[in-house]
Amino acid sequence: MTTLDQHHPVDLTLDKTARELRIEWVDGSKSQYGFDYLAAMCPCANCREKRIEMAKNPLHVVSGPLGPAEVGNASMVGRYALSITWQAGCVSGIYSFDYLRSIDPANAEKDEAGEAGSREEG
Ligand SMILES: [Zn+2]
Repeated sequence: MTTLDQHHPVDLTLDKTARELRIEWVDGSKSQYGFDYLAAMCPCANCREKRIEMAKNPLHVVSGPLGPAEVGNASMVGRYALSITWQAGCVSGIYSFDYLRSIDPANAEKDEAGEAGSREEG
């Protein structure tokens, strides 16, 4: 038995006008990710380390004029991930569909308690 299929997208729309990534999953649910959010959540080792360091450090230095995140390039990586490069940011982000589901902004609002006790409706 595998749950992989649940995390498989049937439709991926990278909307550069609305500046968001929209995904329709095989189970019928939909997710929306703003570019700024996606860029900030880059899953590559470098960015992950930076986020961990920022979380540890009470001093947050926010660099201003980077500007809005714009997608430079996007492509599928096999059947399990989406590679996104950012014009003024990181170019090594591989967003696996597992990861994308786990950072779905809508889900984050629903159960902020964490992974435990996630339940499905419908
Ligand atoms: Zn990165």
